[in-house]
Amino acid sequence: MSESCIFCRIVRGEIPSYKVYEDEKTLAFLDINPSAPGHTLIIPKAHECRVEDLSREDAEALFRALHGLVAGIQEAMDAPSSSIGINNGPESGQEVPHVHIHVIPRRRGDMGGIMQGLVSATGRPSDEDLRAIAERIREKVV
Ligand code: 5GP
Ligand code: ZN
Repeated sequence: MSESCIFCRIVRGEIPSYKVYEDEKTLAFLDINPSAPGHTLIIPKAHECRVEDLSREDAEALFRALHGLVAGIQEAMDAPSSSIGINNGPESGQEVPHVHIHVIPRRRGDMGGIMQGLVSATGRPSDEDLRAIAERIREKVV
């Protein structure tokens, strides 16, 4: 745990988030500045900056959470596909130094995508929109 890390603070409940899933080792919540509606972040509760520094158990738990969540996220957002990625280290564009997997629901012709950078923010949605989206995803993944 890191005192100041924003994602550790979300894990501790010190900063609110729109949570879509939680288990003993992982947490998933909506990105506050999504690249597409339903853009979800899946994180280990353990504070590590980089994938290679995670314990094997946390790495396994993280991918297990991704595996369990991705279909529900896509279904909830009525998106046939998703871009899934990790910025691993500052030179990759990682801004929050706590491992996180981006799951970005994708539709044909939406013009975003991994070739144009993993994260291309479209602005912060309203709290009401975020709450409704989190609820839709939760219903699909529980
Ligand atoms: P990175 O560039 O590190 O791969 O992505 C960090 C992501 O975290 C960005 O997409 C950004 O919008 C998101 N983010 C930053 N601060 C917060 C926050 O306080 N709450 C939530 N839900 N997402 C955040
Ligand atoms: Zn952290």
